[in-house]
Amino acid sequence: MDPDWQQQRDAVIGLGSMSGRKSFFPELQHKIEELEENRELLANVIDSIPNPVFHKNLDGVYLNCNAAFARYLGFSKEEIIGRTAYDLAPRELADTYRRADLELLALGGTQVYEAALRHGDGTLHDVVFYKSLILRANGTVRGLVGVILDITELKRAEKALRESEERFRAIFDLIGDAVFIHDLESGAILEVNQTMCDLFGYSREEASRLDVEAISAGEPPYSQAEAMAWMRRAAAGEPQVFEWLGKRKNGELFWLEINIRRAMLGAAERLIVAGRDISDRKQAEAEKKILSEQLSQAQKIESVGRLAGGIAHDFNNLLTPIIVYVQLLMRDLSDNERASSRLGQIMLAASRAKELTQQLLSFGRKQRLTMRVLDLNTVIADFSGILRRTIRESVEISLHLAPELPSIRADRTQVEQILMNLAINAQDAIEKNGTITIETAMVMLDEGYARHHAGIVSGWHAMLSVTDTGHGMTPETQEKIFEPFFTTKESGLGTGLGLATVYGLVKQHNGSIWVYSEPGRGTVFKIYFPLAGRAPDQESAPVPGVLATGQGRGVILLAEDNEMVRDMASELLKEDGYAVLVAESPEVALKLTGEQHIDLLLSDVVMPRMSGPELYARLAVAQPGLRVLYMSGYTDNVIVNHGLFDEERNFIQKPFSADALLAKVRELLS
Ligand code: ADP
Ligand code: MG
Repeated sequence: MDPDWQQQRDAVIGLGSMSGRKSFFPELQHKIEELEENRELLANVIDSIPNPVFHKNLDGVYLNCNAAFARYLGFSKEEIIGRTAYDLAPRELADTYRRADLELLALGGTQVYEAALRHGDGTLHDVVFYKSLILRANGTVRGLVGVILDITELKRAEKALRESEERFRAIFDLIGDAVFIHDLESGAILEVNQTMCDLFGYSREEASRLDVEAISAGEPPYSQAEAMAWMRRAAAGEPQVFEWLGKRKNGELFWLEINIRRAMLGAAERLIVAGRDISDRKQAEAEKKILSEQLSQAQKIESVGRLAGGIAHDFNNLLTPIIVYVQLLMRDLSDNERASSRLGQIMLAASRAKELTQQLLSFGRKQRLTMRVLDLNTVIADFSGILRRTIRESVEISLHLAPELPSIRADRTQVEQILMNLAINAQDAIEKNGTITIETAMVMLDEGYARHHAGIVSGWHAMLSVTDTGHGMTPETQEKIFEPFFTTKESGLGTGLGLATVYGLVKQHNGSIWVYSEPGRGTVFKIYFPLAGRAPDQESAPVPGVLATGQGRGVILLAEDNEMVRDMASELLKEDGYAVLVAESPEVALKLTGEQHIDLLLSDVVMPRMSGPELYARLAVAQPGLRVLYMSGYTDNVIVNHGLFDEERNFIQKPFSADALLAKVRELLS
């Protein structure tokens, strides 16, 4: 029994414990019963409270508790009452409770705190203690009462929620896309993830204060107004996907793919915006576009080149007899002044035509090149005198030649041709005074460069650049300059073949050519030659011209499928004293020969069914030591490069002059 309660009763009736006994004073007896009933009710009420409730005195001794408290701790009421927390709980916990009790006593009022409590099953539970003081009528403290609320489950749920929240936060931050959460109505940025901060260069703090304008290129179609339009569409329930030019904190612009959708986040509807960095993809697309444009441009030039080369080749077959017959006529009519002068005019026109076909041939890459290993600087230095005399005086020519430039494999005359064409164009672009700068350098074209430029092989190159201070070009002009017959010059001033020729020659040297120009800013052409990888060749002295004498001795087999060339050559050779067997095909040539001894085979290179070198090989079996001279409008590089014959000694390029052919034949037969 509650000792306090016993004291009270003793005070009222002035006796020792009398419960259960019959009273001498019926009224008192009645009062006692009433009180007894009240006490029972009170104990009953307390016992029925589902939360554990306890009552301690100032020393921390439990004076009473309810059934829930006893059940919670796993003791009987009897085991609890009269004991302290130190008897029932681990020392550390008991210390905690005691400290809280003392604090409550000092401060008064009500106390609420979380602490651990050992449950009857031995586990520690999280609970909240609600405690307050019990005061006597005179205000002195009698003890304290406490109610316990078990929050273990609540805590566990809270922790699970927190962990889940953390997990989703981590996913939100780690996802590769920049994610924004926008207000559905205003479009304001409410929250961003870490990727957004990393991608745009803002701290989370700064990012929370940004608007769309600040993270976009800013100019239409990438400004706030367009962004709002996209968001409104997404807000209306249609997810939006589009490309966007974003802006980082440092001002750098970059491409994003934006995905906007409306979503319910908790209680509110929001816009979720995911931005993916697609700079790499965009760059790859741009590179691919440039490359394919370059390729199609190159293919166009290539096919026009083939056409031009083909025409030039046929043209050569026509020009050759014209030139040779005119030469023969000039010899026959040397004492007729009038006729000689007229023939001279024909010869002049024919020579011009020959030059033109040479240009077409070099553009079509059908021209025979005499490739030597040479020093580019020497070629330029030697040629600069001629350039200086050709270019008008008001244009300065400035040379910047790299010291120790490695050699290239090139045809000297063609390199000079390239220089001349570029220099003349530069001069034409300069209105009054200006400068043409010719420069050489050794440059490394790396993989990256090669990837952006069609037809380039990476590695070391010798660069030749020709820069002018002229009027420059628009991008539209630049697109067409390498096309044959493209000119912006007045009629009669430009042929449009200069750069087409340069282009063809450069390609024939396995090089590449690039132009940089802006209107009003001048132009620079850069040509890259692959390096030869060895020292320059010694140059041989040119063969002096030989005049026709009519002193020729020996038998020549002439194989040529073009009738005009065939007739002309045979006439020329016979007149010079040779015996000539004429064949219009290799088969006829083989048949004609038979047992006949011949000294020289003069043959076209490319003929139907059998090439010149094949014919020679067949003939040489029966006649070892047979000499050969090939002629061709163009040299099929395949034949030449296989080294089937000596390009210098056994070849003559059409159209040739009478003297040139006779000199060659004589040289071979001597
Ligand atoms: P042409 O000189 O006969 O016009 P080209 O093939 O040499 O033919 O040049 C083609 C066109 O390229 C020129 O008409 C001119 O418009 C442009 N061009 C070439 N070189 C230059 C240059 N250095 N500066 C400005 N424009 C140039
Ligand atoms: Mg030109």
